[in-house]
Amino acid sequence: MVIIGAGECGARAALALRENGYQGTVTLIGTEQHLPYERPPLSKEAMVSDEHPLPRTIAGSEQFTEKQIDFIGSSTVVAIDRPAKGLILEDSSRVSYDRLLIATGALPRALPLASGSRHCVTLRSYDDALAIRARFRPGARVVIVGGGFIGLELAASARKRGASVTVIEAQPRIMMRGVPEEIAEVIAERHRQEGVVLQCGTGISSIEDTSGHVTIALANGEAIEADLAVIGIGAVPVTALAEAAGLDTANGIVVNAWLQTSDPDIFAAGDCCAFPLAIYGGRRVRLEAWRNAQEQGALAARNMLGAQEPHEAVPWFWSDQYELGLQVAGLADEAAHTIRRDLGNRAFILFHLAADGRLVAASGIGPGNAVAKDIRLAEMLIARSARPDPIQLAASDVKLKSLLAA
Ligand code: ADP
Repeated sequence: MVIIGAGECGARAALALRENGYQGTVTLIGTEQHLPYERPPLSKEAMVSDEHPLPRTIAGSEQFTEKQIDFIGSSTVVAIDRPAKGLILEDSSRVSYDRLLIATGALPRALPLASGSRHCVTLRSYDDALAIRARFRPGARVVIVGGGFIGLELAASARKRGASVTVIEAQPRIMMRGVPEEIAEVIAERHRQEGVVLQCGTGISSIEDTSGHVTIALANGEAIEADLAVIGIGAVPVTALAEAAGLDTANGIVVNAWLQTSDPDIFAAGDCCAFPLAIYGGRRVRLEAWRNAQEQGALAARNMLGAQEPHEAVPWFWSDQYELGLQVAGLADEAAHTIRRDLGNRAFILFHLAADGRLVAASGIGPGNAVAKDIRLAEMLIARSARPDPIQLAASDVKLKSLLAA
């Protein structure tokens, strides 16, 4: 069993192969030198901790040794030789496989205008995080391009470190992708309170380095000077290996419900794959989410061992900014109308219902973990395709648990 990609998904898959009793060879290949580590802290804790942050590893080297997982770091696979069932690595060495998992993830989308600038960076890896952290200094002028999850989490972290922050978002508001306006507005307001300048609905016309800093000219004629610009405009799935090997791709490596590609011996999982989502009638999606990577890694492992188990999980995302915790379960773009439930302490949940009354998504915002329990219950209702009574959904004195029992 060979896994390309030693991120969340690949590492979970390697461990799960052993948890499921597989006793043959397990090889996990990754481009980074570090042992597989968690990425969510990179935009948050790792940016603001007083201590120098270390990678939060998913498993230590003793664990890999004990489980006889052969982790090959700092190594790039350059080709999949399907007829020979082997991989070719950068140093021309070969690794053969019976079953292969592609868990190559996604990489930050590049902003071509920023390509020549020394002051424009992106965040994906632990090493990227260290480089950004070093430049989030008190008084530094930081521009964040892209008002999505990564950009806004970095904006909050930069403020905590005493930098001044401007966020440039091309769309008319922040977090257009997957977060309802009512919740985005709470987050936007919180950023404004911290002094973050949000520039929405404007494009960038040029980016130029000038003695020690960068000047970003906006389409509206304004120019912003910054010491650092972090580009967080989304991610693109890493599919080149799969494509070159002739596997089907379409916004990700195309897989069936059990994460198998168009080659039955090759599976793909996590950020790099486009899979049919059972709870929405098999609609094909690609998710960039921590929990999805974990679940699909474990599922791919079982299916590499022949289980043929479909992926049925409800998508789930979260973001922490300042003291606020945001969570979304399901895909809100399937909804026809929305019901609001207040949870007290300025926390609230929005239930998103399809035209036929089915609960298709729920999103919530509040201090800390205020919405976690109810989002978890909503997730169970979504998984069951429940049609809860809208009046009861809105009534905060009606326990969601009782709707689940009904
Ligand atoms: P990420 O995981 O990088 O946060 P998201 O898709 O959540 O990805 O957010 C990316 C954000 O960047 C979106 O809100 C999108 O509208 C915005 N965006 C994309 N291209 C540009 C651009 N050229 N300039 C400014 N914002 C952009």
